[in-house]
Amino acid sequence: MAVERTLSIIKPDAVAKNVIGEIYSRFEKEGLKIVAAKMLHLSRAQAEEFYAVHKARPFFNDLVSFMITGPVMAQVLEGENAIAKNREIMGATNPKEAAPGTIRADFAVSIDENAVHGSDGPETAAQEIAFFFKENELCPRTR
Ligand code: UDP
Repeated sequence: MAVERTLSIIKPDAVAKNVIGEIYSRFEKEGLKIVAAKMLHLSRAQAEEFYAVHKARPFFNDLVSFMITGPVMAQVLEGENAIAKNREIMGATNPKEAAPGTIRADFAVSIDENAVHGSDGPETAAQEIAFFFKENELCPRTR
């Protein structure tokens, strides 16, 4: 299995619930390392750009509005099979369908406000990491 990097976002609902630490601890328990992190409050234009792939979907405007209701925590996770592993830890998009013990089962209330984002493949991971972080903000672990 290859060591991968993936982009994770703790969305405004989970930041407001004060569970950043609990979510980080789930990443760490599963062997994912945080190699970059920043808290920021996205502008509408930034949120629209980030979710541009969903522009034609009926939920696009509500999604963008939700993502700018408060700060988000963006991080790059690194580890074996990190992209799929993060999606497993997150659980299904709809928290009602998310497996017990996943982040969305435990912290999300609805498909619209579902606590976390995670890249869904290697290409999107590279694009999404570059959206939030400059190359020199990524900190590979050397020890
Ligand atoms: N979303 C929504 N309503 C829907 C489907 C998706 O509000 O009916 C939002 C939700 O926040 C989701 C995001 O759009 O996380 C992106 O959707 P996607 O299908 O890519 O799910 P994800 O990869 O986040 O599990």
